Amino acid sequence: MQKCSFCQKALKGHEKIFSGPDVLICEDCVKFCHDTLNRTGAMPSKDAKESKDPKDLKVAPPLPTLKLEELPKPVDIKKTLDDYVIGQEDTKKKLSVSVYNHYKRILSRTDTQEVELEKSNVLLIGPTGCGKTLLARTMARILKVPFAICDATTLTQAGYVGDDVENVIQRLLQDAKYDIPRAEMGIVYIDEIDKIGKTSENVSITRDVSGEGVQQALLKILEGTKASVPPQGGRKHPQAENLSVDTTNILFICGGTFSSLDEIIKRRLGKGEIGFRGTGKAHPVYQVQDSSQSLIRLVETEDLVKFGIIPEFIGRFPIVSTLDKLGEKELLDVLSKPKNALVKQFQKLFEIEGVRLTLTPEALLEIVKEAAKKGTGARGLRAILESVMLDVMYELPSLEGIQECVVERQTVLNREYPQLLDKKGEARKIA
Ligand code: ADP
Repeated sequence: MQKCSFCQKALKGHEKIFSGPDVLICEDCVKFCHDTLNRTGAMPSKDAKESKDPKDLKVAPPLPTLKLEELPKPVDIKKTLDDYVIGQEDTKKKLSVSVYNHYKRILSRTDTQEVELEKSNVLLIGPTGCGKTLLARTMARILKVPFAICDATTLTQAGYVGDDVENVIQRLLQDAKYDIPRAEMGIVYIDEIDKIGKTSENVSITRDVSGEGVQQALLKILEGTKASVPPQGGRKHPQAENLSVDTTNILFICGGTFSSLDEIIKRRLGKGEIGFRGTGKAHPVYQVQDSSQSLIRLVETEDLVKFGIIPEFIGRFPIVSTLDKLGEKELLDVLSKPKNALVKQFQKLFEIEGVRLTLTPEALLEIVKEAAKKGTGARGLRAILESVMLDVMYELPSLEGIQECVVERQTVLNREYPQLLDKKGEARKIA
């Protein structure tokens, strides 16, 4: 029985085989090599061979790479963040500085550097739908670095059912189009990091019971390790070696709601006063600002440890920033102010149909009120708008002569059909 000299697969005789002196290569191995060469841009396309003109070489265009001289300054980063993210001023500033420092450190590193600058991973604490993911994603866009997002609740210690921690790096590599050096400068956002607290109740039976195992596994990639990641398309081929990605310079931004953290802080503040001064009175800040929002701003490492995050893990996050719950005013702004605001997106869709979309201020306020009731921050806004606009978006492309669509308070409140106006400005009734 003949065997492929590369993958050792037994050859049954019907496959295409390439042979050389004392070697046989099966079709699959040839395909694999071809794909690899193609992917790395080493193979000129068929057309290019014919034309002989180097500019016709069909090599993938180079991906944008961040260069030191093009690194935006913190002020510029913050300005661009302002275009997309409403509020969260403090976090935007902190993120701008830490991300700038992070990339400055990587891009200007010399072997003779005496002071070793530590990486500034960021921990974001804030309620659902307040812009944590949006901030991380926008940051990666500003810097044109690869970005991957994952949910900590799906992560498992190696050996358990679920996503290995290294899959996170694989996703980053995918976003970097398998360009390893590029991936090694990427940003990873890990959501729901609070759900892997040791004491978290939100654990699944397939995962280690404490969540600590996942923290330990994550710790390794946070500290910097050589993560071993399967090549593009998974291990379709037995010979395909794992790719090694160094995580030392990957910036990690973790986010979580940390509900009940305010209770832990409250207890600490209360106790501190009694213990140290014996007055029995609450901490002065706590007296003035007793909402959970203000308490969260006073978070300290020990509170996070009490919450169930292991100290070594917290130690990897020199920047901790808290985000505010979005109030009605901010939700209104989210609807229409950002560069890619929801209302602007819907208006663009209507514009393609040749129709002007108008939402009255009262309608916008009603959407905000409904979203606020849901308690999922700005997340609820899109779903509400989609449901308000569904019927009209269903019919509009089949209607002729409509010039304007007006969404009023009643349209939102009772999900009534919006007003459609024709070219003469007259109302068009839809049966
Ligand atoms: P979180 O990660 O905090 O739960 P997200 O960042 O995923 O929330 O927010 C969900 C969506 O809500 C975003 O895609 C964005 O459209 C909108 N959004 C949330 N917060 C803001 C904000 N501060 N400014 C602008 N849009 C926001």
